[in-house]
Amino acid sequence: TYNFCAGPAMLPQPVMQKAQEELLDWNGQGVSVMEVSHRSKEFIALTQQAEADIRELMNIPSNYHVLFMHGGGRGQFAAVVNNLLGEQGKALYLVDGSWSSSAVDEAKKLAGDEQIDTLNIIEKTHGVSRVVLPELSELKQEYRYLHYCPNETVDGIEIFEEINSPWPIVADMSSNIMSREIDVSRYGLIYAGAQKNIGPSGLSIVIVRDDLLEYPQLPQASIMDYRLAVKHDSMFNTPPTFAWYLAAEVFKWLKVQGGVAEVAKTNARKAEMLYDFIDSCDFYENRVAKDNRSRMNVTFYLKDESLNEQFLAQAKAAGLVALKGHRSVGGMRASLYNAMPLTGVEALVSFMKDFANGNA
Ligand code: PLP
Repeated sequence: TYNFCAGPAMLPQPVMQKAQEELLDWNGQGVSVMEVSHRSKEFIALTQQAEADIRELMNIPSNYHVLFMHGGGRGQFAAVVNNLLGEQGKALYLVDGSWSSSAVDEAKKLAGDEQIDTLNIIEKTHGVSRVVLPELSELKQEYRYLHYCPNETVDGIEIFEEINSPWPIVADMSSNIMSREIDVSRYGLIYAGAQKNIGPSGLSIVIVRDDLLEYPQLPQASIMDYRLAVKHDSMFNTPPTFAWYLAAEVFKWLKVQGGVAEVAKTNARKAEMLYDFIDSCDFYENRVAKDNRSRMNVTFYLKDESLNEQFLAQAKAAGLVALKGHRSVGGMRASLYNAMPLTGVEALVSFMKDFANGNA
């Protein structure tokens, strides 16, 4: 079965197999990793290796902290506001789809409308969405940070252009972290819910430049406080240990694949193969400008939408599951995270071809 789910997503098969083998006896302890103390020297060694591996994979400079926190992506929608905005600060949010819009809702809920400015960066022409980045240096406002979402999971929109911002950039990379190389030093803070390219849901990764920890905070739950997380090595309370273990295994797997640069090449090939096919076939369409088509979440529509249910049922019977688009946008979505092999995309294209021929 090839699982095209947008999240929680498919994990690399070798990682799942290893986890299965180690489920009842991890690291010669005679018990599962779920059952050992997070303060044991064995578990701490695991966390140190995980941090070293993600630092190597993403080339994270030494003035950045890496935190393993609870609460997924949405937890960070709140944590960013509470940790960085203070009573007086303002922030600018760029909106390019559903998740950046949800981040705005949460920010306004916590800080109020006056502290949160927004800019819609999507232009729609003849039903095709395109990202148009504003000239930020022309804005005369002082912001504590600029928030944006470089990959909109629901809409299938990705921003490949570097953003030039006079203010620290906070990026929600939940659905494209480690899918291609980025220059971490361009960002003030990067966060990601784990359940696409990293591991099980619930865990979130935060990569934060140390000067942002000096920002005035709003009152918040201690477990979401970046300073406490740094001080306690992400163990202020009991961390999500099993998710952390799996993330550590995914990082090891990524290194065996040749690191982010190598998986990025495969990711580009996978996406290109699927988009090329969609463009070549009258039966399907994609509604995103070529420069902004997501490599992680390929959204597409059957031109005859009355065939949607049939398409999904036959795909499932062929072992291609979770292709239904998000309920807010309809259509189909194939998520091609790091763990999706090229063969999965080949199987999908072959199925789509047959389905189109059979229903033309
Ligand atoms: N941000 C993006 C880009 C996402 O894709 C998601 C979930 O799919 C979230 C945030 C929310 O993550 P979570 O469900 O872990 O809170």
